[in-house]
Amino acid sequence: MAERETRGLGEPASKGGAKKKSSAKTPARKAQFAKKTIALIYDFDGTLSPRPMQEYAFLPQIGIDPAEFWAESNRMAKEHKADPLITYMHLLYKKAKEANVRIDREDLVAQGRQVELFEGVLDWFREIEDYVKLRAESHGISLRHYLISSGLTEIVEGTPIYDCFHNVFASEYWFDAYDLPYPKRVITDTGKTQYLFRINKGVEDLGETINEHMDEDSRPIPFSNMIYFGDGDTDVPSMAVTRKNGGHAIAVYPPGGRRKKCVDLFNAGRIDFFAPADYRRGSDLFRRTCLLIDRILASIRVEEEMWKVARSVKG
Ligand SMILES: [Mg+2]
Repeated sequence: MAERETRGLGEPASKGGAKKKSSAKTPARKAQFAKKTIALIYDFDGTLSPRPMQEYAFLPQIGIDPAEFWAESNRMAKEHKADPLITYMHLLYKKAKEANVRIDREDLVAQGRQVELFEGVLDWFREIEDYVKLRAESHGISLRHYLISSGLTEIVEGTPIYDCFHNVFASEYWFDAYDLPYPKRVITDTGKTQYLFRINKGVEDLGETINEHMDEDSRPIPFSNMIYFGDGDTDVPSMAVTRKNGGHAIAVYPPGGRRKKCVDLFNAGRIDFFAPADYRRGSDLFRRTCLLIDRILASIRVEEEMWKVARSVKG
């Protein structure tokens, strides 16, 4: 996990903004309406990048066909009733060892440079920030991008978009304690939802427990300020949690590819919108994201006004 600085819009970016301990935990008796951070949260594989991130360098480096690898990994998990994510993380290094290829942390980071991103992804983060800046009539709106991925933190670190994220929650290895690298953190489909609550409660330090009760009023990023981006079944728990709590979700499919999964998600009420994974300004994805942002900005203004009225009648 890596903490990035807060990107304040209309305010200078505050360094180390992720450590919001005081604002996250003090009750709502502040001089300023505090719920003005919008969070865009992304899945990685299939959402920002066309294929699973291990397919760009890791698997070719050890000479393994990706389709065969995933088939074997899923078969093993099923057969041994093992968690599929732990199984793939283990199998990846077992295969590397069998092929006599040593891949350390630095190698994984270097592999990140070979990961392909969907068209427009490189500029998306800045463009969306520009849009929010343009539309945010209320001062102090800030925008954050988060990544929650079952893929590997180390590979994400090597991609050119790593610095665009306020925080990256992804699976990760221990490298030195064992003969083979050993999973340090595994982010499963349902496990992803824990990180949504961490963003919601402002408890992003993974050393702190997330299970303590926190009043809705004290939570710095309400779900209604969130948009979750994903590409399929593995995102269903995150989409469901986000939407059930008043937030938003968008599904993407490969441009020119099949959209059936997205249509199913849409018909099942899991998502607000779906669109091809084309992140360029003016695309359907860009336009629909901006529509949701407009709605979020409008409700922030309403909430802020209500908050002011409530304070003025308190006596
Ligand atoms: Mg995915």
